Amino acid sequence: MAAEVVVVGSCMTDLVSLTTRLPKAGETILGHKFFVGFGGKGANQCVQSARLGAKTSLICKVGNDSFGNDYVDNLKKNGISTAFVGQTTDAATGTASIIVNSEGQNVIVIVPGANLLLNFEDLKRASDVICKAKVVVCQLEITPAVSLEALKMARASGVKTLFNPAPALADLDPQFYTYSDIFCCNETEAEILTGISVGNLEDAEKVGRMLLERGCKLVIVTLGAEGCMMISGDEPIPKHVPAGKVRAVDTTGAGDSFVGALAFYLAYYPKLSMEEMIRKSNCIASVSVQAPGTQSSYPYRKDLLQDLF
Ligand code: ATP
Repeated sequence: MAAEVVVVGSCMTDLVSLTTRLPKAGETILGHKFFVGFGGKGANQCVQSARLGAKTSLICKVGNDSFGNDYVDNLKKNGISTAFVGQTTDAATGTASIIVNSEGQNVIVIVPGANLLLNFEDLKRASDVICKAKVVVCQLEITPAVSLEALKMARASGVKTLFNPAPALADLDPQFYTYSDIFCCNETEAEILTGISVGNLEDAEKVGRMLLERGCKLVIVTLGAEGCMMISGDEPIPKHVPAGKVRAVDTTGAGDSFVGALAFYLAYYPKLSMEEMIRKSNCIASVSVQAPGTQSSYPYRKDLLQDLF
């Protein structure tokens, strides 16, 4: 039952329609392609960690419906423990209905559904697995109080906490900072949390320092093709960790690939320096941007250079 990486978070079924243009209000148009994808930040991060070889457990809630059943199968196929994947009849599996036009512009409707029904009782049932993990990872696509409680449970047992404040909340409960060993956000989330837009490395340092002062031990600001800025309470000088140059075809879900990879290194290679863990996680996330889709683009250990392990 024990898992090294435990993720408490969301599952979303992506319903994607490709069209030449976006419909106007009240209009029906024909699309030329439809596909269903597996998404949700919690599941994405857990899948990336599992594909690198981590023993993982996802604590989440889906509907007692066909999307929920398919999601459970998807997690099992990725080798993730589904012992604490709840299925409810009180809400549908979370969905993201996405329309993408030929210019790549999109409109998206997210219905969190069952994700918002994950509750304290579910965490209590999973307390053994949370408290015996090496790393617990949380985001904000479930009820924030539930994410915070998971971080508190982990911290109380000396388990490392990795928090990804996505989607960002301008009024984030300040306890999230104090209960995060590692606080990992992208530029947009950093801006929502600090009010400062991140246009260059100096801005990234500045927002990182601001977030660090709120009480976390280490802040990572992901910067897309630029890699990451690391700001640590232990080191006075922030460190830019660049990503390799690659030809990106679809960066959707790159942030989740990065977080999942980092959770893997924290759990399995705790002696590596944080800079080295970030460098390796950058490599993995930069592989994900070279293939289309979200989970479909996440690399498996067997397909990666063995010096990453
Ligand atoms: P998304 O919201 O699309 O999931 P994000 O905005 O949360 O992504 P980013 O900061 O864009 O996250 O990217 C996360 C990590 O992915 C980066 O730190 C980097 O390691 C890698 N990455 C993203 N884009 C590129 C790119 N174009 N080239 C190389 N690596 C990339």
